[in-house]
Amino acid sequence: MERFRWWICVGLNYGFLVAMAVGVERDIRLDGLTVTPIYHGTVWVTLQEGDQAWHVAVDPWKQAPLPKDKKAHLILVTDVHHDHMDAEAIRSVAAPDVDVVAPPAVVRELKGVLTGVKLHELANGQTWTWRSLQVEAVPMYNTSPDRAQYHTKGRGNGYVLQFRKTRVYIAGDTQCTPEMRALKNIDLALVPINLPYTMDADEAAQCVKAFRPRQVVPYHYQVGQADPDRFVDLLRDEKDITVSRVLDGKERP
Ligand code: ZN
Repeated sequence: MERFRWWICVGLNYGFLVAMAVGVERDIRLDGLTVTPIYHGTVWVTLQEGDQAWHVAVDPWKQAPLPKDKKAHLILVTDVHHDHMDAEAIRSVAAPDVDVVAPPAVVRELKGVLTGVKLHELANGQTWTWRSLQVEAVPMYNTSPDRAQYHTKGRGNGYVLQFRKTRVYIAGDTQCTPEMRALKNIDLALVPINLPYTMDADEAAQCVKAFRPRQVVPYHYQVGQADPDRFVDLLRDEKDITVSRVLDGKERP
C-alpha cells in the first residue's frame, strides 16, 4: 500500500511537471483576480468579489480555445482586426446581459451585427467603471513609419484594468509608445511581440524596462514572426521584474 501511494505521488508530480513544461498552467494569480492568456490576443480575466466570480473576456477570437464552462459578463475589444474583433466569438462567450467595451471604430462595426448587446464606446484616455473594476483605455499604435498602416494612433485601445489595488495592462497591438513607457504601478503587463504587426522582442523588452511592471508576459505571437524566448532572456536579469512565457505558441482548441 505504501509503495502504491508513493507511485501515485510520483505520478502526480510528474504529471504536474509535464503540464508546466508544455505550458498548460496559464493562470496568473494576482490579488483578487486571475489572468489567463489563452491564445494570440485572447485573454480571460476572472475577478473574485466575495463568493461571486465575474468573467472578463478580452478580444475573444474563434481560433482561440475559448472556455466552454463559463461566460463573460464583460467583453473588451481592442481593435477592428479579425483577430481582435470577432462578433461570432463575442456571441459565443457572452453571458446574458453582457457589457461590451470597445473603441469607437469597433463599436461602429459591431453596432449592426450585435443587436441587443450593450456596446459602450471608450476612446483613448477615457476611463469606465464596471462594478469594482476600472477600465482605462490606453492608446495602441505603430510608431515605425513602415508599420504605420497596421495600427494608426487613436483607433485602437490597450487597457489598464484596476481591481482594488491590482493593476493589469493588456497592451493590444502596439509598439513601444510614449504612453506605454509612461505607465505607472503595473502589477502585470501583457505585451505583444510579432512582426510586422507589432514589435520585436528587443523593442518590447526595452519598453518594459522603461515602465517596469512587477510581472510581464509576452503574448500575441501565434501569428507573424516572434521570438518570445529572446524576450524572456532580455529581461531575465531585471531583479524587480518577473518575466515568464505562458503561451507556448501551439495552443489550439
Ligand atoms: Zn492582432
